[in-house]
Amino acid sequence: MSELRRAPRASYLSLARSGELDERARALDALLGECTVCPHACRVDRSVELGACNTGLAPVIASWCVHHGEEPVISGRSGSGTVFLANCNLACAFCQNHNISQQPKRFLDAAITDAGLASVFLDLQDRGCHNLNWVSPSHQVPQLVRALAIAAGRGLAVPIVYNTNAYDSVATLGLLDGIVDVWMPDLKFADPDTGCRLAGVADYPERARAAIAEMFRQTGEAWELGPGGTLERGILVRMLVLPENLAGIEASVEWIATELSPSITVSLLAQYRPAHRVLTTGGFPVLRRRITPEEWRRAVDALRRHMEGDRHHLQWGIG
Ligand code: SF4
Repeated sequence: MSELRRAPRASYLSLARSGELDERARALDALLGECTVCPHACRVDRSVELGACNTGLAPVIASWCVHHGEEPVISGRSGSGTVFLANCNLACAFCQNHNISQQPKRFLDAAITDAGLASVFLDLQDRGCHNLNWVSPSHQVPQLVRALAIAAGRGLAVPIVYNTNAYDSVATLGLLDGIVDVWMPDLKFADPDTGCRLAGVADYPERARAAIAEMFRQTGEAWELGPGGTLERGILVRMLVLPENLAGIEASVEWIATELSPSITVSLLAQYRPAHRVLTTGGFPVLRRRITPEEWRRAVDALRRHMEGDRHHLQWGIG
């Protein structure tokens, strides 16, 4: 594993200089006319109709902030410039952010302009953030890249972190090659039936694995670090441990190790708390508790059995 330290820079700057960033924005925009931006492939014209993500042509964000609570390699000393996109292309029963991901009526009149979103990016850079952290970007990739092209012309230079549920289209990710510097996908489930029951899509493992394979193709497993030790290029896969092994941690780490590389860095998270439909319906009884120390230990053991390296982030964090 190599860890290169060098002066900060964002990949998209060279694309901006050559005009390629504008070309990519146009190519992504073309997907919105018969939308195939994400694997739902709703094929709606987003200028007149909404698909499964309930989001039209203009950017819609819920909030933005300087975030100090991400993995240390993302937040660093000065924080990560986090932009929470409104709405989502999944509908997880246990979503901690359900008030911004699954309440589209809240955001019906909240669309902003591309220039307005560019100003948000620049504000976060001005506040000293190490990076821009796009949270749940999958359904708004064209909007984000349009704004990025404007912001790059106005002096934006921090790396982009793509913080995703991994229900992403491989073709869309291909258009982000050279734009995104840090891939930070979840790998939520290993079993299709569980994904269907808990996130509302029958093909989650297949789609997420294909998306993560594309991210890995773009960056490989090596990390490039900035002067302060924050991640400036690479991939970090997040897995949230769920009660009763519903996330299928062992199957997922085995897949990563076998099909991609045992040296990819994994962030294993123990912060699951019952929320949203888990609390309001009776349909998810095993999810109405936090994980046990034994469930956490099994997940850590599985990670250590299949993966190599010492960069994994193990966030037990149960208070
Ligand atoms: S981005 Fe939205 S409209 Fe487009 S395919 Fe995905 S869910 Fe459907």
